[in-house]
Amino acid sequence: MTSDSLIDLRSDTVTRPTPAMLEAMLQARVGDDVYEEDPTVRALEQEAADRFGLEAGLFCPSGTMTNQIAIKAHTEPLSEVICEQTSHIYLWEVGGIAFHSGASVALLPGNRGRLTAAQVEAAIRPVNVHYPTTSLISLENTHNRGGGSCYELAEIAAIAEIAQRHQIPLHLDGARVFNALVATGQDAREYGRLFDTISVCLSKGLGAPVGSVLLGSRAFIQKTKRIRKVMGGGMRQAGYLAAAGLYALHHHVERLADDHRRARQVGQTLAAQRYVAEVLPVETNLVIFRLQETMPAEQFLAHLEGHGIKASSFGPQMIRFVLHLDVDDAMLERLNAALAAL
Ligand SMILES: *Cc1c(COP(=O)(O)O)cnc(C)c1O
Repeated sequence: MTSDSLIDLRSDTVTRPTPAMLEAMLQARVGDDVYEEDPTVRALEQEAADRFGLEAGLFCPSGTMTNQIAIKAHTEPLSEVICEQTSHIYLWEVGGIAFHSGASVALLPGNRGRLTAAQVEAAIRPVNVHYPTTSLISLENTHNRGGGSCYELAEIAAIAEIAQRHQIPLHLDGARVFNALVATGQDAREYGRLFDTISVCLSKGLGAPVGSVLLGSRAFIQKTKRIRKVMGGGMRQAGYLAAAGLYALHHHVERLADDHRRARQVGQTLAAQRYVAEVLPVETNLVIFRLQETMPAEQFLAHLEGHGIKASSFGPQMIRFVLHLDVDDAMLERLNAALAAL
C-alpha cells in the first residue's frame, strides 16, 4: 500500500486479506460443511474453542448471526435478556432479539458500556406472573459504543457468580474480545470459565474477510446447528473462509497491540486540538471523540476526505476512528498532520 492511498478509519471491518492470508485460503482443504465434512471449518471451530477452554465452536457468516443464534438458543418467548442499553445485540442487530427469539430486554445504563454486578443483580426478575423470566445476561467486551472500553476481570467474575447463583446463562458478545485480551493481559481460558457462550468476530481487527465463531459446550453448539440452518447460515465449502480465520488466529492477534498504540497516539493528537471538546479514554483500537459546537461534524469529515481519510460520525458531534491492520505508521503520520492542519 502506498503512503498516499486511502486511509479508511470507518471500521475495522474494512480490512482486506493480506497476500499471506489469501495464500492460506487458496491452500485450504474443504468439504461440505452442512454435512460436517469440511476439515478446515472443523479445525477453526476447535482451535477457537480450545483457546477459551470451551468445548466446541460454530462458524457463521457474521457476528450478528452468532449473537442472535446464542440468544435464540438460551431464551424462549416470555423471557428477558439483560444487556446494556447501547449494546450491539440491542442497538445494531435490527431488533433481532424480538424478531428471532420473541424475548424482552432489560436495558441497563452502563459506564461506557460496562455493567456492574450490582446493576445486573437488581435487574433479575423475581417470580411473578406479570413479569418475563430472566433467561440470559449478555455482556459486550470490548464495548463498541463505549469507545473500545474493557471490563475488569473481577467485575466479570462478580457478574458470573450472580448468573450462576440464579442459574442464568452468561453470554459474551466478544466481537473484539481479542482486543480486550491483548490490551489487559487477561487470560482467554478465564473467559471460558466465566461465560457460557462467547461470540468472536474474525472479520474485525483480526482481518479475515468474513466470519465469526460462537463458542460453548458441545451440547449447546449441537443445538445451535439447527438454528444456524433455519437462519440460512449453513454454508458449504466454507473452509476457504475458515482458513482466513485460522490464519488470523495464528498471525493477527498479538499485532492488535500495534492498533492500540496507534489509537492512543491519535487520541493524544486529538486532545491537543482546539476543535475537539472531549476524547473518550482510549483503551483499545477505537477512538471516539466529540467536536466543539463550532465545528460541525460534516465540515470535519469533509476536511478529512480532502486528505484521503474516511471516518464516520457516531451521533451529534461525535466521531469514531477505528485503527486496524490496514493502517500503518506512515498513514498515522498523515492522519496526525491532517488533524493538525484544520
Ligand atoms: C461488529 C460487531 C458485531 C457483529 O457484527 P457483524 O457485522 O454482523 O459481523 C457484534 N458485536 C459488536 C460489538 C460488534 O462491534
